[in-house]
Amino acid sequence: MSVKKTAAIAVCKSTYKIMRALGRTARALPGMLALKIDGNLIHELSEGHNTIVITGTNGKTTTTHMVQQAIINAYGGAAYDPSSTNMAQGIATTLCLDSSLGGKRASDWAVIESDEGATKRVLPAMYPQVMVVTNLYRDQVDRYPTWTTARDYIIEAIKSSPDTVLVLDADCQVTASIADAVPNQVVWFGVECNPYDEGIADHDQVVECVACGQPLEFSHRTFAHLGTYRCPACGRQHHAADIAVVDVTDKQEKSCTLTVRVNGELRQLPVNIRAGYDVYNAAAAFAGLLTAGVPEDKAAEALGSFVHAAHRFEIFNVEDTQTRLLLMKNTAGCNQLINMIAGEDQLPQNLVCLLGMEIMDGLSTEWIQDVRWEKLITPDTRVIVGGPRYEDMQQRLLRAGVMPEKMTVQTDYAQLVRDLAAIGEPVTVIANCSTIEALRLELVKKYEPIDYWAE
Ligand SMILES: [Zn+2]
Repeated sequence: MSVKKTAAIAVCKSTYKIMRALGRTARALPGMLALKIDGNLIHELSEGHNTIVITGTNGKTTTTHMVQQAIINAYGGAAYDPSSTNMAQGIATTLCLDSSLGGKRASDWAVIESDEGATKRVLPAMYPQVMVVTNLYRDQVDRYPTWTTARDYIIEAIKSSPDTVLVLDADCQVTASIADAVPNQVVWFGVECNPYDEGIADHDQVVECVACGQPLEFSHRTFAHLGTYRCPACGRQHHAADIAVVDVTDKQEKSCTLTVRVNGELRQLPVNIRAGYDVYNAAAAFAGLLTAGVPEDKAAEALGSFVHAAHRFEIFNVEDTQTRLLLMKNTAGCNQLINMIAGEDQLPQNLVCLLGMEIMDGLSTEWIQDVRWEKLITPDTRVIVGGPRYEDMQQRLLRAGVMPEKMTVQTDYAQLVRDLAAIGEPVTVIANCSTIEALRLELVKKYEPIDYWAE
């Protein structure tokens, strides 16, 4: 254990704490200071983790969230960054926060989003077991000198980590060309159906072959430059996918069912995403999880309980009370939420727990009994319970250790909003479908939601 390393972790943790207390995004600076003290820190702290790195032009943040939530759901924890600071500094912060001052890691897993350019620094330090590349788009020319610059950074990075298994989008010819340049093992994923509700319009756009510049031919095209391609001039062609989405059915506003082929076998995968681009992200996440050794049933179950950030978190500034709304649906999803909250800097001082039982909530609320509420509760936690089934909630939370004098009941949503405004400290609301909708309807009369993941 080096003095440098201890000092770096200490500086990172204390800077993070101070910045968060000031209400600042605190992912880049703490890690930057830590790396100045110990340039080898990412390498030292990632040792022993099962590491999955996710990169690519589009979809890497959503794919990363899917993998993070799935790993946490399946294994109880991971080093990860909810705000997706995907440069080396942010990654150093993530690893420091998952480490004790003595350098002992809290989690067995690390799920890391990396900017394409940052892979050059991340891979030689972390030697991840798995790296997922979602896709590489041409519109990155603004950021990089040529179409293939981002790809070349990634290739250079992979050369330092020959044991990393690559999970590549077979439908993206640029991503696929990574496999031509490195000897690493590759698992291919793809989409072999129309992922959208209706057809999409950009199919007439000509795609030039990344190898010879001639126009590609497509036997199937999903959107943009993605699909089953072949170059008539040089013969480069699409790799068959090991893991492919072959059908999207039951398309709803916020969910659909994917039929996924895994090494020749079909399985149904119900997911809480809208049909469309996220189908690729789900395929990438599923392929990444299986490649990392997560059992197929576990990966399917965990991915099935993924809830998109946009549907899952909202923050309202209710006067001086920052109020975040978190949706709970079932035991697994709610335990995920609680793990996420328990992984934050401090446990919430103010909780609002709302429980209803309408059709959209399912037929029973019995499942709240199996949720690990105990992880959230301290003797100081103040709780407001509400919703038509508040009594169930109240009893469960008292059993979890809430002090009776710290618990109040409020079943009137308009009054609840006024109560929130009077608190003046951050409040975490955990509520099921009908009650979160009811509270939200009352909130939007006066307040606008702000984004959570943006910190
Ligand atoms: Zn060609």
